[in-house]
Amino acid sequence: MNKCLSYANDKTSYSSPKSKHGRTLLGSTLTYSTNWILRSISIDPSLGYTLPGNQKTNDVGVGPHPHRGFSPVTFVFKGNVEHRDSRDNYAQVTDGGTQWMFAGRGITHSERMGKELAEKGGKVEFIQFWVNAPAAHKMDEPFYQPISKEETPTYKEDGIEIGVVAGNYQGLKGAAPTFSAQTLLRGQISKGKKHTFQIPQLFNMLLYILDGAAIVNDSTEIKAKDMLVFNNDDEMVEFEATEDTRFILLSGEPLNEPVASHGPFVMNTESEIMEAFRDAQMGKMGVLIEAF
Ligand code: MN
Repeated sequence: MNKCLSYANDKTSYSSPKSKHGRTLLGSTLTYSTNWILRSISIDPSLGYTLPGNQKTNDVGVGPHPHRGFSPVTFVFKGNVEHRDSRDNYAQVTDGGTQWMFAGRGITHSERMGKELAEKGGKVEFIQFWVNAPAAHKMDEPFYQPISKEETPTYKEDGIEIGVVAGNYQGLKGAAPTFSAQTLLRGQISKGKKHTFQIPQLFNMLLYILDGAAIVNDSTEIKAKDMLVFNNDDEMVEFEATEDTRFILLSGEPLNEPVASHGPFVMNTESEIMEAFRDAQMGKMGVLIEAF
């Protein structure tokens, strides 16, 4: 079995043994082993948060801002996330779907909630993480690809649903276009059900549960908002849900490249970060004027 390398929850600050600058899991930034930057891993996933209503779309979410060098990815669990960008892309993604954008050499986007949700109010629950891109592709052409629940192939057995967002799992292939080998999963496992995750041993891997409780590898008890990082020493992880549990599993071949991450940019060197700030100020990452 793939042993847990480390454990974190929303009350512990977290420093990954594989990370150059990992610290504090929730509400902050964690760089994990060159593959992912975890940001806003939860906006209180166990409860979600509730929009009060009587707001406009431009009162909620995040207005126009640039990115470069990676893919900001948002798994939507409740409510919706509305995307606009400087290349005229627009889509609203609802529960079960994924906002996937590759920022490449630069793009400006906004991330908000839809008009009806802003006006009427309601629950919003999502997890955003940043998928790092290999150095050779950081300055490629940006692209945007929303992936709905219907476009997410889902492995199903009694009490188990596992959506494949990227990579291959159980013969299913996720829709997300990636630059390095990875398997990104999201799903739910009902109380009393067991599943053995089989992921290439080479892949770095983390498992986070939004709610519920589970026993991992017959030994490690986890509960809502806990995250496990694994040790790359086996391809099997045994998961037994002791409550109805929702999870995400991120896994990928290590990039093993230096990471320089600052603000909305993820590059390989500090000088590339300075260049990114300069290019953004000069308008080289596009302009987004939102129209609602
Ligand atoms: Mn963004």
